[in-house]
Amino acid sequence: MNILILGSGGREHALAWAVMQNPKCDKLIVAPGNAGIEAIADCASFDIMDGAVVVGFCEENSIDFVIIGPEAPLAAGVADDLRSAGFKVFGPSAAAAELEASKAFTKEICDACNAPTAAYGHFTDADAARAYVAEQGAPIVIKADGLAAGKGVIIAMTEAEALAAVDEMFDGSFGAAGAEVVIEEFMEGEEASFFILCDGEEVLPIGTAQDHKRVGEGDTGPNTGGMGAYSPAPVLTDAIAQKALDEIIRPTMAEMAKRGTPYQGVLYAGLMIKDGQPRLVEYNVRFGDPECQVLMMRLGAQAFDLIQAAAEGRLGEMRVNWAEDHAITVVMAADGYPGTYNKGSVINGLDTMPEDSANMVFHAGTALKDGAVTATGGRVLNVTARGASLAEAQARAYKMVDGIDWPEGFCRRDIGWRALG
Ligand code: ATP
Repeated sequence: MNILILGSGGREHALAWAVMQNPKCDKLIVAPGNAGIEAIADCASFDIMDGAVVVGFCEENSIDFVIIGPEAPLAAGVADDLRSAGFKVFGPSAAAAELEASKAFTKEICDACNAPTAAYGHFTDADAARAYVAEQGAPIVIKADGLAAGKGVIIAMTEAEALAAVDEMFDGSFGAAGAEVVIEEFMEGEEASFFILCDGEEVLPIGTAQDHKRVGEGDTGPNTGGMGAYSPAPVLTDAIAQKALDEIIRPTMAEMAKRGTPYQGVLYAGLMIKDGQPRLVEYNVRFGDPECQVLMMRLGAQAFDLIQAAAEGRLGEMRVNWAEDHAITVVMAADGYPGTYNKGSVINGLDTMPEDSANMVFHAGTALKDGAVTATGGRVLNVTARGASLAEAQARAYKMVDGIDWPEGFCRRDIGWRALG
């Protein structure tokens, strides 16, 4: 098969790495890709947000199957355009991608199917939102409705902070994403991510993970896109995962199907777990980045068989072939991230890294310049390893980190601390 993956991050490098190992793959193209992806697949450059352009590329290049990595093209309807043109696609329609694109939509779905989640109010004007904050008190969570790249959520510990957040959102600081605001009860507990393949009807869990959002060790400092992750997440036990499937995921899928917008793709459920009970924090309609890297490391070549089955409505006949293993990914970022950072520094030592089923350096923000790998983003490398235990995987990952010569980069040295106790 000729397969196209859309995206350019560590997530897409990990997907490409897994797809390339599957014997069904004759040719893999990634658009736009990055320096790491270029080493294992062809990269192409075109506007991945424009459905007509993507369809044209697929026609010209005899593409049989498309995997859409990031949320933006999904929300823009690129999967719809491809399906209308007769292509097989992994990823939800724009209507189903509302589960990530609108927080108010997800809350309404949870109401309709009785899925446990935080109590909330949905507001289109500041006065009503302020009155709700005054009535509920703090702590309380203020969220811009739309996509805001993880920045549209403010956890307010005091009422004054909450009121300031409401004003900021309605003042237009978050653009169109903040025209509507969801205000939620603050949920206590431990967070974990649950990944489920969906084919419109059937669901198949493909793993759990926990990430590290804060930039500093011990989960301190500003929020980032994620500084590392590991899988499985011990807090999401089999019993809690089953509860999440029965009480949250399956009812959501049934509600989406009932509305004529069945969900097909990977559903990434952010769960808050307390006293054995999972509650939904959020849905994302794509793999997490960097969580995808640890899932792909654990699934390997079978990942494409599962992805294909989801796209073809055959999940009911699939099983995941699990090894009793653990995977971890350590994000190496440019100095200064998540604030301002320099681009263009050279990374050495990557050619000495092992590349096998237990050790991989996935590239997130790199480009080749005059034959050298250079940093082009904030999060730059995802140093990923697998082991019989999390401790073994962690030791492997940091051994690789220590072999990478990049003075302008940094990483957290404590990825996995929560699970390692
Ligand atoms: P991201 O893209 O970074 O996942 P997002 O913008 O989609 O974020 P959410 O996932 O809804 O927003 O919220 C971001 C984070 O804020 C969550 O991962 C969680 O840690 C925290 N959070 C969100 N809602 C609540 C809540 N009701 N109670 C406690 N914490 C919450």
